[in-house]
Amino acid sequence: MSFYVTTPIYYVNAAPHLGHAYTTIAADVMARHHRQRGEEVFFLTGTDEHGEPVADAAHALGIEPQELADRNAERFKALAPQLGASNDFFIRTTDRQHEATVQEVLSRVRENGFVYEGTYEGSYCPRCADFKAENEIDEGNRCPIHHIELTREQEDNYFFKLSAFQEPLERLYAEREDWLAPRTRYNEALSFIRSGLRDVPLTRHRLKWGVPVPWDSEHVFYVWFDALLNYYSALRYAPQPAGAPQGLAGEDLLGRFWPASYHLIAKDILRFHAVYWPALLMAAEIELPEHIFVHGYLLMEGEKMSKSLGNVLDPFAVIERYGADALRFYLLRDVPFGQDGSVSTASFELRYESELANELGNLASRTIAMIVRFRDGTVPAAGVDPALAEDFAGLPERVAAQIDRAELTLALEEIWQRVRRLNRYVEEQAPWRLARDDARAEDLDRVLATLVEGLRSVTVLLWPYLPQSAERLLGALGAPDLALVNARLGAGSIERVSTIDSLFPKESPSG
Ligand SMILES: [Zn+2]
Repeated sequence: MSFYVTTPIYYVNAAPHLGHAYTTIAADVMARHHRQRGEEVFFLTGTDEHGEPVADAAHALGIEPQELADRNAERFKALAPQLGASNDFFIRTTDRQHEATVQEVLSRVRENGFVYEGTYEGSYCPRCADFKAENEIDEGNRCPIHHIELTREQEDNYFFKLSAFQEPLERLYAEREDWLAPRTRYNEALSFIRSGLRDVPLTRHRLKWGVPVPWDSEHVFYVWFDALLNYYSALRYAPQPAGAPQGLAGEDLLGRFWPASYHLIAKDILRFHAVYWPALLMAAEIELPEHIFVHGYLLMEGEKMSKSLGNVLDPFAVIERYGADALRFYLLRDVPFGQDGSVSTASFELRYESELANELGNLASRTIAMIVRFRDGTVPAAGVDPALAEDFAGLPERVAAQIDRAELTLALEEIWQRVRRLNRYVEEQAPWRLARDDARAEDLDRVLATLVEGLRSVTVLLWPYLPQSAERLLGALGAPDLALVNARLGAGSIERVSTIDSLFPKESPSG
């Protein structure tokens, strides 16, 4: 079994922000979960570096586009480890090997008869690096995304015969309803296709900053086609993922990981991924990815100021003060993955205190503290309480089924219900009362064994969301095994626990 997940490659013209962090975190959760299943996993992210906006910005700074790209790519490269992301490779579209694959694949598209010369005239947004169809131009001839006035552009270029894929794309959407989710986005893409596909420019004539067109040196490829091909080209030169079986060094990863299992994207790039990308792959006779999942926007509205973070949710400030785990948890917990939702520093702090600190953090600290206090740190050899076993039955499978559909918020909710169940179990059983009655020693043994095993089970399942905290906690339980098959309640065999500092301190060390 193999699993290949991608983020979009991020455009180097902007600085890394919350939206980039969001997609990277989501992809990381999926990658880690699939590694827990013992699958071979490849997780790709990177930067999109060509196109007019980069060239323009570089010229404004008086430097070469490559220099600007080098400078900004470093900031995105640094983002992944800050978020705790475990990407296997970081692709840059200025990589020589990527450029060679773009040239090869698009030459094949031409040889297959889907490229022709023509003149394009249309309304163009330089910030999108894209022409706009008549039905997507805002009032005042403005870009619906950037709200700047569009320019009228005419240029001789090569066209991609997108119109030839109208029927094959309609068939794709009919035959594979799970190819694109959520459903609202599937419907949106399908109605765009049904409204009639027109051919699109494949190359730019006057622009120099791009991958050169091999059959015409006056052209470079349109940045979107170049960018989309990163998902494919990376597998041709990326090193083997960590933990790959020995003896695979130098082997092409395409055979093992293509087609991609999941492309995660935001809705602003839906059309490119849902329409252009499958058409391009069909034209090049390359197998289509299995799934595209479109997440929503994180909105920051007028909001209550938080105690320590001010009023703009800055991912870097959150990480600095609370750690990457807290940000990862919050973003996937507070906004249902796939929908738009508001985020704020105040709601972050509320989730942090009420759920991470009070629910999970307290569960961990009091479970460990009671075993230390009542049993000297040794976990009693007692079975799991059947009353709780029922509430945990099938939990790893349920979580896996949600993550298979990229329902990352629903999967987290499944786990969190059990965190709450364990806290209720503590209240119901009141181990501190059992400890005062020698005749109830066996009951206390069972309660403590059940609690620590329940804690282990939810922690293994939470690892994709909270990798650092989960590893610390599992270390304290002497149970470092992360395999999903052993996440089941009752599969563990914890012998001793040791105390650790608070997992989610309410006052940050610097505050
Ligand atoms: Zn625009």
